Amino acid sequence: MFKKVLIANRGEIALRIHRACKEMGISTVAVHSTADSNAMHVRLADESVCIGPPTAADSYLNIPAILSAATVTDADAIHPGYGFLSENANFARIVEEHGIAFIGPSSDLIATMGDKVAAKDAMKRAGVPVVPGSDGAVKTAADAVPIAADIGYPVIVKAASGGGGRGMKVVQRPEDLESAFNMASTEALAGFGDATVYIEKFLGQPRHVEVQVIADGKGNAVHLFERDCSLQRKHQKVLEEAPCPILDEATRQRIGKVCADAAANLGYRSAGTFEFLFENDEFYFIEMNTRVQVEHPVTEMICDIDIVAEMIRIAAGEEMSLRQDDIRINGHAFECRINAEDPETFTPSPGRIVEFHAPGGLGVRVDSALYAGYSIPPYYDSLVAKLIVHGRTRDEALMRLRRALGEMVVSGVSTTIPLHQRLADNPSFIAGDYDIHWLESFVATD
Ligand code: ADP
Repeated sequence: MFKKVLIANRGEIALRIHRACKEMGISTVAVHSTADSNAMHVRLADESVCIGPPTAADSYLNIPAILSAATVTDADAIHPGYGFLSENANFARIVEEHGIAFIGPSSDLIATMGDKVAAKDAMKRAGVPVVPGSDGAVKTAADAVPIAADIGYPVIVKAASGGGGRGMKVVQRPEDLESAFNMASTEALAGFGDATVYIEKFLGQPRHVEVQVIADGKGNAVHLFERDCSLQRKHQKVLEEAPCPILDEATRQRIGKVCADAAANLGYRSAGTFEFLFENDEFYFIEMNTRVQVEHPVTEMICDIDIVAEMIRIAAGEEMSLRQDDIRINGHAFECRINAEDPETFTPSPGRIVEFHAPGGLGVRVDSALYAGYSIPPYYDSLVAKLIVHGRTRDEALMRLRRALGEMVVSGVSTTIPLHQRLADNPSFIAGDYDIHWLESFVATD
């Protein structure tokens, strides 16, 4: 097992990784920008190294600085968390070339999954259902005409290298195809340095359902069931739950097995997530995330498995301890992403925390790097806390969610706690009756 792990991240996920390491007897190295000298992840880690100025490009994305930090502290492994360098195949490759273990999949698989055309192709071959669409990239607007007609309108033109919901254009009618194709391709080139686009059937009212897998890179893989992440604003997840409230048991078992088998066939190593759109009882693969996800705690709560610890064990070359038959769903969990933002306008609200009170009690978990007196810097993501609750049933978890949100105090900055409180009282949410567009209209009309 590793003696020392460098955590190439900040905020709550850096703490999350630190906690897993300490429980495994591993010492930790925090890296931080000059804006984060007083951050909780720096305070808790055994050692810390300043890697640059506030701007992420100069610090948390600064590969030479992070590698130097790992070298001078003699770390055996690097955990990248989510965001920043977590899905950068080049970073994973350089880390391994330096004789340091990368706590994640191989750089080749990160590269394949980062190209959505290649990822879809790999999934099709591995027997995973994908959204009907073009067979790979579409070169010109003229080529797109018969392809879109074949798929049937509406269609969506998407950037192969896209991310964060950008570089996508929905086309309702054939006469709009050429301009949408050209716009998507231009945006893709400007945003991602790659003009390649492909075409898919546009699904009208899907849910976002994703399957968590853990694999050892030696052909063994298990799934940890699914999460429903349909509550999104601007393609950003806001509140997640596990399991998906509308999935029947047979469908759940079937899609879980498809994903575990695909991960095994791909020779995938580490934790990973298969993201699907789910409509009319059918799953359509959209992308694979090759890292730990923000919403992983809801799965941990229902499966009683420490996903980050499993990632570390697998990276250290240990045998996989998980057996599919031993993994069961116990109850229901919700996660609220609490952002330092105005709950109405969603403009970021950095600044000094005056009071911080985390709720507690049975089935309540708060993953946060906040403390009273801490100043949230303006340079990074506005996620500052995750409130996760677990109950024996969905109803019990919902009551607990309302109770815990009522106890939580974050003063000095605005947060999205009031938005979560309104959501927790909403009849459609309570009934589990929502799709990926529902939250946008809830926010607009509430
Ligand atoms: P990104 O990597 O930019 O997040 P994704 O392919 O994961 O791109 O898609 C992001 C979101 O865009 C999805 O969660 C969904 O809301 C919407 N979307 C993508 N593809 C389709 C599709 N074929 N039909 C309907 N909505 C889609």
